Amino acid sequence: MTCDLLIAGGGINGCAIAREAALLGLSVLLVEKDDLAAHTSSASSKLIHGGLRYLETYEFRLVREALKERERMLAAAPHLIHPMAFVLPHAHSVRPWWMVRAGLYLYDLLGLGSSLPRSRSLRRDDPRLAPIAHHAGGFLYWDAQVDDAALVRANAADAVANGAQIETGVAVTGAERGGMGWHALLSDGRTIDARAIVNATGPWVKDFLSRIHIRSDSGLQLIKGSHIVVPPLWEDDQAYILQQPDRRIVFATPWRGNTMIGTTDVPVKQPGDAGITPDEIDYLCAAANRYFRRQIIPSDIIATWSGVRALYDDGAGEARKVTRDYVLELDTRGAPVLSVFGGKITTARALAEHAMAKLGPAMGSMIPELAFKPRPVTRDRPLP
Ligand SMILES: Cc1cc2nc3c(=O)[nH]c(=O)nc-3n(C[C@H](O)[C@H](O)[C@H](O)COP(=O)(O)OP(=O)(O)OC[C@H]3O[C@@H](n4cnc5c(N)ncnc54)[C@H](O)[C@@H]3O)c2cc1C
Repeated sequence: MTCDLLIAGGGINGCAIAREAALLGLSVLLVEKDDLAAHTSSASSKLIHGGLRYLETYEFRLVREALKERERMLAAAPHLIHPMAFVLPHAHSVRPWWMVRAGLYLYDLLGLGSSLPRSRSLRRDDPRLAPIAHHAGGFLYWDAQVDDAALVRANAADAVANGAQIETGVAVTGAERGGMGWHALLSDGRTIDARAIVNATGPWVKDFLSRIHIRSDSGLQLIKGSHIVVPPLWEDDQAYILQQPDRRIVFATPWRGNTMIGTTDVPVKQPGDAGITPDEIDYLCAAANRYFRRQIIPSDIIATWSGVRALYDDGAGEARKVTRDYVLELDTRGAPVLSVFGGKITTARALAEHAMAKLGPAMGSMIPELAFKPRPVTRDRPLP
């Protein structure tokens, strides 16, 4: 079998790139070793958000892009994504009032033109602060919630509707460069000739590169994040963003009639090391109990999930400070291979657009008849 683009990985990034490439007219084969959204892309905090907390690490490019994408995604998939109000109780010992207010102004500014309401302060007697035991007022701002796994499937469906082939339960086990492209081996014994490869294997990004004998100096930090689900801690449909004494923030959001609480930031060694530990359960229970009137204990937990972030290692050290921005690494020492480091559910469409803008010229320079001019094909396109 031959194709223009072989994509390894059926998470949000692989599926968004498959959609983008298929709409650009490339023949695409995506293979996923397990199932679509089987790993990180179904274990997120399920937010389509600019990432208010990334302002603290000066990631303005990421926040700006994410807020732009938030608007596009709300329009493209209103059946999977809905606006959500976030209550931020004031915690003076963690961040002074002026700092949070300034951060929210900046968030509004970077999201200028958004259809969502702007942030504002909340009076102490606002009913949305009633579920919080002791507070000194707070703030209200808006982001959105998504069914992450369904968003992955919607991207895959649109890719398939435009000619892509997607196979689950099949891994890329190796690949060699040939004169005209890649010769790849699949776990079911088939071989595929592809002009280029996209490595969208998330936490397995470096493993995949070694499988296809590509040396990469890029560092990778694997950071696990876990969530717990408990019976509802309040009645209405707003979410809460809770500042913790370690300066981390923990979200408490409504999820299918219950309350989802997360996340943690725990460095792990292996991509498959996703599983919640008793320490993480204690941390998340304490994070919620610090604020809510309704207190929880581990036996209240209905469900948990954990995912591993694959973050590009920019040498920041502390887990919460490592860049959340994505990096696309293109290797053109022969047929092209593009590797995705990091990324967000929120920004996957934009990442896919950048990926094709980077791959297009590389594919064209290798094989002139394949030169294609990437153009925006998904910016205003609804998702099925
Ligand atoms: C705890 C947590 C909370 C998060 N919250 C949010 C949030 O609220 N909002 C947001 O926008 N983002 C969030 N993120 C980030 C977002 O979830 C991830 O950036 C995104 O899901 C990564 O998608 P991916 O496609 O790169 O990786 P994955 O979803 O992990 O997909 C990679 C896939 O590649 C497959 N694979 C691996 N090796 C092979 C191979 N050799 N052949 C074939 N297939 C292979 C794997 O099986 C896997 O399914 C969160 C992440 C975490 C961990």
